Amino acid sequence: MERETSPQRWPMDEEDIPADVRTARPGRALLSSSMVGSANRGRVLQTLFDLGPTSRAELARLAGVNRTTISGIVQPLLDQQVLVEGKPIRPSEAGGKPARPLWFSPEARPICGMMLMPDAVQTCLVTLAGTISAEESVRFPAENPTLAEVTRAIEQATKKTLSAAHREPLGIGVAVGGMVDTDRRAVIAVNLAPVMNGFELGDMLTRRFGLPALLDHHPRALLVGDRWFGKGRGMQNFAAVYTGEVLGGALYLGGHLYRGQSGAGGELGHTFVQVDGDLCACGRRGCWETIATVGWLRRQARAIGIDAPDAINSARLVALAGAGVPGAASLLDLYARNVAVGIANLQQTVAPNFYILHGDVVGGGEIMAEAIAGHVRALVPSRSGGEIRFAIGETEDRAALLGAAGLVLSELLQFPL
Ligand SMILES: [Zn+2]
Repeated sequence: MERETSPQRWPMDEEDIPADVRTARPGRALLSSSMVGSANRGRVLQTLFDLGPTSRAELARLAGVNRTTISGIVQPLLDQQVLVEGKPIRPSEAGGKPARPLWFSPEARPICGMMLMPDAVQTCLVTLAGTISAEESVRFPAENPTLAEVTRAIEQATKKTLSAAHREPLGIGVAVGGMVDTDRRAVIAVNLAPVMNGFELGDMLTRRFGLPALLDHHPRALLVGDRWFGKGRGMQNFAAVYTGEVLGGALYLGGHLYRGQSGAGGELGHTFVQVDGDLCACGRRGCWETIATVGWLRRQARAIGIDAPDAINSARLVALAGAGVPGAASLLDLYARNVAVGIANLQQTVAPNFYILHGDVVGGGEIMAEAIAGHVRALVPSRSGGEIRFAIGETEDRAALLGAAGLVLSELLQFPL
């Protein structure tokens, strides 16, 4: 069978891929990129991500380098079209030249973000400024797809997205709805699609597309997206919590993403909240996931006679409670408390103090977030200076795709992960 030829301008056939990309860990290949040369450059880029468009003088001050050094760092980034200079915004206070803010150029090399779920794959391009384009989505065959069919769907979506890139992407970042070995860049287990268990997706993508590829657990990708492009910007400590059909979370502590050994950490949904409690999908009993997912909500809605219980979610529950439907307000409160229990445990353990909520609860808006926050504050003793704050994340798909791209960005800027 003839191998498909690809329209890209960068090497696509395995033999054309530079040896360091083929054999090195993806991080190495990225680190050798000419875009990143020095710790100072990484610090300046980090400051830009944290603050948004910023003048040279501000950047120099905040990154702790002098004006000459900042020019030496910024000029090559302007030449490589990583950054652009914006219009002068205001005269400087000393009355000198008006400050021209620097920001990421739309012409900079994009990142390919991918979300791999049990039933479909989604791909897109993300600019360094966090703009999404060239979105593609391919569903897997409905009945027990083979790994070959899954692979074909992934290749198809990726190829279409990459063909829209006007420059070679910096890499492919993948958010996986399942357990991941981040060192091997492999899927360990997807409970709802066991055909993917053991799938060495990172190697497959690098071989097929000649780009560095990184994989991580979906909730950790959400957190990385928050850190680079969302409400975690500039934060040193925060947690992302995802609820929906499953429950998961991720931690950013002391300026580092916390993954645990080979990415084994963050299985918050399977921390225990009830000894000998309900049976969980993982085979154990009393996991947080058994009381704080949409599955639990559906069962409760049915038990108290809410209409169309299978269509219940946070958005609808908040609306029903607002309309005074009997039982809805107390169910909302109970659901919020169940979500809060796991967050309270996390707060007592590592005290991130700032939580970004993702997934189903986002649909419940401020009312749901406030209900959860109220329960967490009631469950955790208050301390001076230790206010616990909550924020609502981006809508689900967008957050995961930005986060997947953020995985590549984190590696690129040499952040310890
Ligand atoms: Zn479990």
